[in-house]
Amino acid sequence: MLGAHRAACNTMDSYHLVVGLEIHAELKTRTKMFCGCKNDPDETRPNINICPVCMGHPGTLPVINRQAVRHVLRVGAALGGTLADYTEFDRKNYFYPDIPKGYQISQYQYPLVTGGSLAGVAITRVHLEEDTASSQHDKGAYSLVDFNRAGVPLMELVTEPVIHTPAQAGAFARELQLLLRYLGASDANMEKGEMRVEANISVAPQEGARGTKVEVKNLNSFRAVERAIAYEAKRQRELLEKGEAVVQETRGWDENRQKTFSQRKKEASHDYRYFPDPDLPKLKLSELREFTPEAVRASLPELPWEARARLAKRGLSEEVAGVLVREPRLKAFFDAVTREERKPARVKLAANYLTSDVVGLIGEGVGSWEELAARTPEEFRSLIALLDEGVLSSRGAKEVLPHWLREGGDPRGIAARLGVVQESDPAALKEVVAEVLQAHPDVVADIKAGNEKAVAFLVGQGMRRTKGSANPALLTRLLREALGLGAQE
Ligand code: ZN
Ligand code: MN
Repeated sequence: MLGAHRAACNTMDSYHLVVGLEIHAELKTRTKMFCGCKNDPDETRPNINICPVCMGHPGTLPVINRQAVRHVLRVGAALGGTLADYTEFDRKNYFYPDIPKGYQISQYQYPLVTGGSLAGVAITRVHLEEDTASSQHDKGAYSLVDFNRAGVPLMELVTEPVIHTPAQAGAFARELQLLLRYLGASDANMEKGEMRVEANISVAPQEGARGTKVEVKNLNSFRAVERAIAYEAKRQRELLEKGEAVVQETRGWDENRQKTFSQRKKEASHDYRYFPDPDLPKLKLSELREFTPEAVRASLPELPWEARARLAKRGLSEEVAGVLVREPRLKAFFDAVTREERKPARVKLAANYLTSDVVGLIGEGVGSWEELAARTPEEFRSLIALLDEGVLSSRGAKEVLPHWLREGGDPRGIAARLGVVQESDPAALKEVVAEVLQAHPDVVADIKAGNEKAVAFLVGQGMRRTKGSANPALLTRLLREALGLGAQE
């Protein structure tokens, strides 16, 4: 038993997980990568968006999609990578029914982007290629191929093998998805296959050594990415512990069984006989002003990590800022509400009510994003002012919010209609204080004898007398004053 325990500890210490990711993302463009066919991921009728070019008919010539090149360069600039000046496209030759030309146009020696980093992970390269058709093999005696996707612009990003935990891989993939959305480069929906993650996973007997690399495909969610890496780390470590070798191969992820399974032995890159595509021109990007590194950088919007830093500076917690950054519609509304706000307390209040209450109402289906978009920042700003001034309690605000989100309108009017405006008139509350003190002489004596905690009881009595409409902060202050106590810490 003791021996087994020691062996387990030893395992934890000495085996070293190394992961590199390859991520493909379908780019948002009007047309396909090399022809004028519509790039429409929502087209449900098969083989509608096809033409002789993307069907690989002889005698046709491809034309490079400028919008796709721009997307990849912008991603590269956001990652802090080096943008190519000279670039070219290559043919990656292999046979499969989903690749009508018998080769995929990709980039080999001269990718559009090299280097850069994201979420602390170094990036090897980002290049541009075309997607394959999609096949259906579950038809019994035959398979079906839909070429709508064939030739859709596809970005491929490759990281260095510098990821060491499943969580780090998941965080990287999530951050990339967010970046692609911020840039409008891709919707990057993993369930729809718009973003596809492959993980190269190896376990080395000790740090610095090289293990045998296994590639895992079909990872259709962030959770699958994390689970597949954890599964492979364990499987490979157990093989090594038994003195067996890890086979270099491609494995798939079985979502139902939560396991990887062997698919095929991996081809080496020379098997693809890469060579420059003779039908496409070489590009000298600096000849186009919009593709110079300076112009590309200048075209970038605020990036997710820049937004996080800006929001932290405004005093928001990492968690609250994270919610705003992950949901650009919410962030835009928050920015509109607080752009001119000087009071840090109000900035925080606005962020908290948006990220907890408003998000909650939308999540529950009480309100919708469309409704939030139809509301004015001014109205929300006055709701926050009412809270800050004590006219509304947090409970009152929670009652006002669903009405405001669904119908809009002045929050003060809504609060009055719902009867949740707080009594903040000192004269009225002083009367309440006098009544409370008179009704509870024993408690007053107790407080005067040093039991300050009993003030809370008197506040409770005051709230009861006003049926909950008193501003509790003001009521507390007036009670303490009447009792000759100092201001509360
Ligand atoms: Zn076409
Ligand atoms: Mn690829």
